[in-house]
Amino acid sequence: MSHIDPVELAAQLIRCPSVTPAEAGALDLLQETLTGLGFTCTRLPFEEDGTAPVDNLYARLGSEGPHICFAGHTDVVPVGDADDWQDDPFAGEIRAQALWGRGAADMKGSIAAFAAAVAGYCAAHDDIAGSISFLITGDEEGPSINGTRKMLGWLEEQGEVIDDCLVGEPTNPDVLGDMIKIGRRGSVNGVVRVIGTQGHVAYPHLADNPVPQLVTLMGHLANGKLDDGSTHFQPSNLEITSIDVGNDATNVIPADATGRFNIRYNDHWDAEKISAWIKTRLDEAVANAAGDAHYELELFHTGDCFLTVPGPFVETLSAAVEEVTGRAPVLSTSGGTSDARFIKDATRVVEFGLVGKTMHKVDENVPVDDIRQLAKIYQKLLDGYFA
Ligand SMILES: [Zn+2]
Repeated sequence: MSHIDPVELAAQLIRCPSVTPAEAGALDLLQETLTGLGFTCTRLPFEEDGTAPVDNLYARLGSEGPHICFAGHTDVVPVGDADDWQDDPFAGEIRAQALWGRGAADMKGSIAAFAAAVAGYCAAHDDIAGSISFLITGDEEGPSINGTRKMLGWLEEQGEVIDDCLVGEPTNPDVLGDMIKIGRRGSVNGVVRVIGTQGHVAYPHLADNPVPQLVTLMGHLANGKLDDGSTHFQPSNLEITSIDVGNDATNVIPADATGRFNIRYNDHWDAEKISAWIKTRLDEAVANAAGDAHYELELFHTGDCFLTVPGPFVETLSAAVEEVTGRAPVLSTSGGTSDARFIKDATRVVEFGLVGKTMHKVDENVPVDDIRQLAKIYQKLLDGYFA
């Protein structure tokens, strides 16, 4: 089995400018690397009307259980104005003990660490007491329609059963070893539209102003308490993100007004319960309001809450992190959504990767030592997993 230098592989991956939905050679390079380690690789391109086609890669080594899966994405977010960067964002330069470029932290560095860990594990063992797979999408930073979700559907059709999954998102806020994510809050976006009747401000009796009604409705929504948190989660939170009337005139009562909000909710809720809570709050506001308030509500659920209750898999990962970094990682459910929101329907899933400080930013970079340490952590995870 060949040795893999995770820093060099990460640099090569950065040199593939795989801004969603472009593959740009990143999956080809990973496939070549994994084929060299004995993996069976399957490319899974998906497309549907109105979306850009996306290429994805599933690779598996071994045919028995237990089956551990490394999941992630090779696509990256756009660089913004490349002139704002110190280097070419796709040069993959190593400077000042760090690897620089778009995707260094999110998440080409951890994908390279996955591969190096497997190479290291295979070099130290004659065979694996189970299976290792890679579930790598090219559509995580984009609409996430032709990526992980469809790959999981394909896996189910093939009868592929994954027992445990690690997603390599950059979970550490400051230092490698800070934080493992064992769950994520759910997220729902809402749009409330109040329809009135347009008219002249001097003749309000001939109009019906939707703005005070919208303010009342949004106020009642914002003042509602969702919960006090739970064992593994912070309290659920509602934020009003916008109130739009779009009225530039000073003498016109507008015809309608729109408010937008987002809720991040914990494991006290699911999509159905949170939807019901929102409707109840709005109906209460209508009932309390003077006049004849009428609203329209649209809800967009972007991911349900999930929790992987700490057990042997989380303990093995925690021990590996502590052994390599000397830090006992916090088990957290904070932060935004990731593809783990889809994977949780198929298997236990946790997230651990690099430090996220520079992700999605100009001059994204990670210390090269972190990439090497991460590869060690993943290899120790494999050691413990198959022990
Ligand atoms: Zn990511």
